[in-house]
Amino acid sequence: MRQLPVLEPLSAAPPPPPLAPRAATAPDAHIAEFATEDTVLPRFHVWTLGCQMNRSDSEEMAGALLASGCSEAAGMETADLIVINSCAIREAAEQKIIGRMGVLARLKSANPALRVVLTGCSVRADETIDLHRRYPQVDLFLRPDEEPELAARLGLAGFTTPGGLGGPSFARVGRGTAATADRLPGTRAAAVESERVARGSTISAWLPIIYGCDKTCTYCIVPFSRGPERSRPFDQILDEARSLAAAGYQEVTLLGQNVNSYGHDLPPEERFAGQGEQRRLGRDLDLRGRPDMAALLRAIDGLRTADGLPAIPRLRFVTSHPWDLTDRLIAAMAECPSVCEHLHLPVQSGDDGVLRRMGRQYTAEAYLSLVERLRDAIPGISLSTDVICGFSGESDAAFQATLSLMERVGFDQVFAAAFSVRPGTPAARLPDDVPPAEKRARLNRLLDVQESISLERNAAWLGRTTEVLVDSVRAEPSHGHDASSAETPGCRLTGRNREHRLVHLTGPPELVGRRVDVRIERTGPYALNGRLLA
Ligand code: SAM
Ligand code: SF4
Repeated sequence: MRQLPVLEPLSAAPPPPPLAPRAATAPDAHIAEFATEDTVLPRFHVWTLGCQMNRSDSEEMAGALLASGCSEAAGMETADLIVINSCAIREAAEQKIIGRMGVLARLKSANPALRVVLTGCSVRADETIDLHRRYPQVDLFLRPDEEPELAARLGLAGFTTPGGLGGPSFARVGRGTAATADRLPGTRAAAVESERVARGSTISAWLPIIYGCDKTCTYCIVPFSRGPERSRPFDQILDEARSLAAAGYQEVTLLGQNVNSYGHDLPPEERFAGQGEQRRLGRDLDLRGRPDMAALLRAIDGLRTADGLPAIPRLRFVTSHPWDLTDRLIAAMAECPSVCEHLHLPVQSGDDGVLRRMGRQYTAEAYLSLVERLRDAIPGISLSTDVICGFSGESDAAFQATLSLMERVGFDQVFAAAFSVRPGTPAARLPDDVPPAEKRARLNRLLDVQESISLERNAAWLGRTTEVLVDSVRAEPSHGHDASSAETPGCRLTGRNREHRLVHLTGPPELVGRRVDVRIERTGPYALNGRLLA
C-alpha cells in the first residue's frame, strides 16, 4: 500500500507570521515523491468532536479524501490516516484527544504507515509549538482555515484545493492572532459543485453560511481559533440550498458560530436596498443595503415545489446570539412556513453582573423581552439555550438568578457546562474563583431544575398530533416500549418534530426520511412517545 509522506514535524517550522499574508503552501519534497506512486490509497477515519460546524467541516474533509481516491476505514484501528477534528471550547474536550495519544502510539507501532492529522479549534495560529508537545502522535496540524488544503498537503495525487485558497492571512483578535482564510468564499462552493462534500445524512444537511465570530464573550476560544466573521455570498448559499432541495433533503440547518450576524461584512447591493435595521442590543453595525439573515431565510423559504410548497420543508439555523436577533428576523421566522418553530438562543447566565463580565452585552431583562417578542410572533415556539455554571465571580445569588431566569423562560432544553478557563481568552485573566466542586454542584442543581421544567413542558404535548421527521431506526424490533407498539408491528423509530423534540414511535423502516403524523401518548423529560397515524 502506498504510504503517506513523512510530514515535517511542526516544531521545526516557524510559527505563522502574525498579521501578514502568507504565500500559498508549496508542495514539499516528501509530498511530491509520494504523489508519484499510484498503488492503493490510504483508508481514512475522521474523528469529529464538538459542534455542528465541526461536523460540517468533517463532511468536507471526508469528501475531499474520497474525491482523491482514498476510502473510508471502518474505524481508527483499520485506518492509515486518522483526521481528528478537535473542539477547544472546554479543557475536557481537549483532554479527550490527549487521552487517546497512547492508543494512537500503539496503532502507529502496529502500522508504521499510519499518519495522524489534528485540525479544528485546538489548532490555533499562536500555539503551534506547544501543540507538538501536547499531541506527540500527530504528524500534521491544520488550523480550521487550512482544512480545505488537507488532501493537497497530504500530497494526494492530482488534488488541488477547491476554489484556490491562495494562502491564509492573519488578524489580531484581542491579544492573539487568528487565521482568517477560513473558507474563502469560493472554497465551499467549489467543494459542493464538484460533489466533494461527503454528507453524513441523506435526510438532514448542514449548510454553513458564516465562518468565525466577532463577538466579545470573554470565556470563549472561538474568535481566536476561527478568526473574525466572514459571510458566504448570498447567491452561493442559495445555490447550495437549491441543490439540497433537488437532492431531496427534508431539513437544512444553516450554520455559523453566530448566524444572526450574517451579511454585515458583505458589500451593499441594490437588491437589498430596503434593509438596514439597527440591532437593539450590542454595538451598532451599519447593515444598510446588505443581505441579512431575514433575507436569507425568506429566499431559501421561497424555493418552492411545483405545488407551491417549500422545496426544503424544514429550515433551521444555529447558533443565534441575542445581539443580532432583530425584529426583521423574528418576522421572517414567523412568516416563512419552512422555518421550524424552534430557536437555540444561548443566554449563558441570568445575572447582569456575570453577563457583563462575560462580555455578552445584554441584560437578563433584555433577554426576557426578546423571548416575549419571539413568543408573541411565534406562539408555541420551543426555546433551547446554553448556560455556563461557575463563571468567574458567580455568587450563589447570581447562580440563583440564572435558575429563576430558566423558570421564567421555561426553556425546552438547556445545554449547561461548568466554566472552563481557556488560556489566551480575556476571562483567563479573571480569577477562576468558584471551586470545581461548587461548579459541579451548581451544574447538578441546574440540571435538576431543568429536568422538571422539561418534564412539565413535554407533558403539554400529551394527546397532541405532531409532525415527525423520522431519521433513524434501531435494528431490534420494538418490545412494547412505545405507546403504539402493542398494535403497530415494526421497528423502533426515532425522529424530531418541528419544535426539535425527540419523538419515539413504532413503524416500518421505510418511514426513515419521511415526515409522518404522530399522536403523543407518553411523555418524559427528554423525549415523547407516540403512535403513528395513518
Ligand atoms: N455562538 C454561540 C453563542 O452565541 O453563545 C455559542 C457557541 S459556543 C461554541 C457553544 C457554547 O459553549 C457556548 O454557548 C457556551 O455556553 C459554551 N462555552 C464556550 N466557552 C466555554 C467555556 N470556556 N467554559 C464553558 N463553556 C463554554
Ligand atoms: Fe463564542 Fe460568544 Fe462567539 Fe458564541 S458568540 S462563538 S460564545 S465568542
